[in-house]
Amino acid sequence: MWGGRLAFVACLVGANFAAGAVAADVITHIPTNDRVVALTFDACEAGEKMSFDRTILDYLLEREIPFTVFASGRFVESNEADIEALSGLDFVDIENHSWSHPNTMDRYDPARVVHQVERAGQAILEATGRMPQFFRFPAGNYNKEGLSAVEAMGYKVVHWRWASGDPARSESADRLFNRTMANVAPGDILIFHINGRGYHTGEALPRVIEQLEADGYRFVLISDYIGRPHPRELPQTTASVRPKRGNRLSARGVIMQAAK
Ligand SMILES: [Zn+2]
Repeated sequence: MWGGRLAFVACLVGANFAAGAVAADVITHIPTNDRVVALTFDACEAGEKMSFDRTILDYLLEREIPFTVFASGRFVESNEADIEALSGLDFVDIENHSWSHPNTMDRYDPARVVHQVERAGQAILEATGRMPQFFRFPAGNYNKEGLSAVEAMGYKVVHWRWASGDPARSESADRLFNRTMANVAPGDILIFHINGRGYHTGEALPRVIEQLEADGYRFVLISDYIGRPHPRELPQTTASVRPKRGNRLSARGVIMQAAK
């Protein structure tokens, strides 16, 4: 059904593949002409403990805007109750952003890359009951052997076409808003930070989302278009007790409870 996907997969690795080598690909946007964007938020934790930016989270949950979190394994460990609660919502995907968020994975040999991905995948599986299917390299740094190793584990590597720039303190809400509006195109994968390192993201995000809606965009999960779809049909026996789309208060309540 999504056979057109490959045509939209950009290769960032460079043109100098050895003859016969398998070209590994980074996904930079969703293969569609639909007027949709996928909101993604990195939850990076390397050493110092971090937690969810509640301003961002509250807004997304209140509005039930679909979003994908790329969480490092350490962030998952530090925020296990929140991650578990979010994973119960059918408009949220939790994906893999390495174990300890090394910014130099472009200098890692494949075995070290695999270790980072495997350990984080395990932490996410334990917290959510679902194996992640997308991986994002910290700071977007990778080499072609590492990329191939991650793909051989069954992951699709998902980056972005252009970055919001929100981890810079100097990027005001106005600048984040203006950059987004100047660059956005159908199928874009927007990248922001939800670990407190998007200094003005909470202020900019409602404006960004409301303007995109006014321009006719819808928000989707990456998994709506690529890979395994998020399970939307909940089993009959648990549907009544699990939060789901259309049940705003329980979606929000479950996170608020987890935050205590
Ligand atoms: Zn990160």
